[in-house]
Amino acid sequence: MKKELLDILCCPTCKGNLDLKINKEEKGEIIEGVFSCKKCSCNYTIEDGIPNLLPK
Ligand SMILES: [Zn+2]
Repeated sequence: MKKELLDILCCPTCKGNLDLKINKEEKGEIIEGVFSCKKCSCNYTIEDGIPNLLPK
């Protein structure tokens, strides 16, 4: 996923802001990483460039 997407993404559970920890990045795209919600502390992973933002 593109880094710019981070600006429009929010926590699917509480709509809070997300922090992103990038584990792998290629050509400005995030391949692997973890979103963590600043508000409810939920974690969401990015695998193969696809953010998995399903509410838990
Ligand atoms: Zn949240």
